[in-house]
Parts: sequence; C-alpha cells; structure tokens
Amino acid sequence: MKRKYPCVDVDLAKLTHNVKTILGLCNKIHIDVAAVTKVFCADRPIVEAILQGGVTQVADSRILNLKKLEDLQCKKMMLRIPMISEVYEVAKYSDVSLNSEIATITQLSHAAKDLNKIHNIILMVDLGDLREGVLLGDVMDTVKKIVKLENIKLIGLGTNVTCYGGVIPDKENLGKLIKLKSDIEKIFGLSLSVISGGNSSSLYMAINDTMPGEINQLRIGEAIVLGRETSFGLTVPNCYEDVFILKGEIIEIKSKPTVPTGNIGMDAFGHKPDFEDKGIRKRAIIALGRQDIRVEGLSPLDKNISIFGASSDHLILDVTDSKQEFTVGDIIDFKIDYGCLLAAMTSPYVEKYYIKELTYSLHRTA
Ligand SMILES: *Cc1c(COP(=O)(O)O)cnc(C)c1O
Repeated sequence: MKRKYPCVDVDLAKLTHNVKTILGLCNKIHIDVAAVTKVFCADRPIVEAILQGGVTQVADSRILNLKKLEDLQCKKMMLRIPMISEVYEVAKYSDVSLNSEIATITQLSHAAKDLNKIHNIILMVDLGDLREGVLLGDVMDTVKKIVKLENIKLIGLGTNVTCYGGVIPDKENLGKLIKLKSDIEKIFGLSLSVISGGNSSSLYMAINDTMPGEINQLRIGEAIVLGRETSFGLTVPNCYEDVFILKGEIIEIKSKPTVPTGNIGMDAFGHKPDFEDKGIRKRAIIALGRQDIRVEGLSPLDKNISIFGASSDHLILDVTDSKQEFTVGDIIDFKIDYGCLLAAMTSPYVEKYYIKELTYSLHRTA
C-alpha cells in the first residue's frame, strides 16, 4: 500500500497495553475508569483497542462522537455539560452526562421522558479550577431541584480540575466533594454511587497511593493515549508515551541563512518574527503546517533535529546536526503532545494508519 503523508501512526497494541496498565492501577483501589475518546474524535479502531484493554465505559465531549459508538456494548458518558439545543441527543446517545445547570437538567428530563428513559447525571462541582461546576454553596439547592425531576437520576458528584485554572487535585479539594456526597445522602435520603474525582491529573494519587478512599471513578484521556499524568507531567509507570507518531515528508531541503533578507514586517500570523543568526544551516521543509498540528507540541524523534518554525502548510526544520543525510521525499518522525494530537486527529489532511501487533519491547522516549 502506498502511504500518504502527513500521517499519524497509531500503535493499537501499545494503546491497549496502556489501558490495561491504568485500569490495573485504578481497579486495585476500587476506581472505575471512563476512557476519554475526544482527543482522537472517537475514531473507531482506536476506541476498539481501548475496549480491548478492559474498560467498560467511554466518555466524550461531543455527542456526534458518542453517536458513532451507538452500537458498541459499553456505557457512554457525555463529558461536556450539554447544550440545551442537544438534550434530546444527549438523552438518546449517552447513558450518563455531566451537568451543572438546572435549566439544562430540566430539559434533559423532558427529553428522557419523550424517549421513555431515565437519564443518569453526575452533578459537577467547581472546586476552584473555574471551568464547569456548581459552586460549593449552591450544591444543596441544585440537588433539591434535581430530585424533583421525573426522568433524571442523580447518580453522583464529579469535579474537573487542572483544565482551566491549573488547580491540582488533592486530599483537601477532593475532600470537599466527599463531604458533600455524605451530606446529600443524609439530607435527601439518596444513595450516590459515583464520586468522579477528575481526569488524568488525578492519576498521580493512584500512583503514589494517596487517593482518598471514597473516590471511585476517574475520567482518563491523556494518560491512556500519551502515557502521562497531567498534574506533574510524569510518565505513568509501565506505559508507552509513543502510541501516536506523526510523520511528515520533506518537500525542500537546502542550505540557507538563518536570518531573512529584507525589511522584516509581520509573518503570516500577524507576529513580528525574531531571528537568531546561526549562520548557514541545512533547512528541510515538511509538508505539514499549523492547519494540521500545533508546532509547539512537536518533538522530532531524531534529537539532532530542531524546529525553526511553521506557517499554515510548511514546517521548517534545522537538520544540519542530524547524522542522517536527508533528501527530498524522506520522512521525518515526531512525538506529539496533547494539543498537537488533538489538531492532527481533527485535520482531514492527516492520514491515520493503525499498527496492530506489539512489535517492540517496552521502551520510553524521554
Ligand atoms: C477531557 C476531559 C477529561 C479527560 O481529561 P484528560 O486530561 O485527557 O484525562 C475528563 N473530564 C472532562 C470533563 C473532560 O472534559
């Protein structure tokens, strides 16, 4: 088969391995994992590799993605608090959704009624990160309204941190969620089965054994796909960080100066660029650009290659110090971060290829 570039190689065996590892880590302390599929747009082969790792619940922020998974026999969670305009689809295609607005939850109840369903929700509580969630002081009042809704079942509380405010989850902020749960159970005579204690940034507490005992669910995306927890950016023990490798093709290679000639105005993105004079360097242009990737999130696997910059469709590399002699048509491999993966998987210009057999022994590229 003739390959197309740019492309992402997805090593499904490594991915399944990461899922098994993280699931083992979490199940040991009675935590269930909802595997988050949004960064790869719930791409079917990738979702299937994740399910092979043993998770029973997938989570996504887009209802279109969950709809694509309709036929799969796993629980589906809607991660982003729903738009009122999509409540019907949310009730139809998800088994549980995260929520923070009573107006939306009320509409969800009506939609669920139309569908002859009871829709499960997890009430999101803002513990200080300032993205979604009811403020602590408003939780009881919100629960009071939720329990009156006919077709809604409140199954638990959840929180999301380290997304907007960079707040790190710990015993103290998660403790507030746990206290709320027991207060709600007492006051309303409810039993809440889920305390959803965050995303990949909460994983470090499972690793160093400091997770508060009552937390029984995590929603994990990045740690599964990139093998990293996100509070401190550390590798998850025994996980692969190179499940996804981006590949691009050289379309020009020439030795040129490092400082442009002429009066310097704005670049294509409205910034006035700054250049360090490194003399004449061998520059390779890759057919790949800001339309497909986040340049700051790329790291060439060859440590002797560095990145000069990029425009919409051109990525310019410094290959002077590489031990390899590159020519036009050669392929360069990159490790990618979360933002870059998100862009690559969303770009229709980036081809996706799947590797199914575990052909490598476990190694890490630091
Ligand atoms: C994206 C998202 C997650 C997963 O975050 P990762 O850092 O990728 O683990 C979990 N919960 C919510 C609400 C999200 O939006």
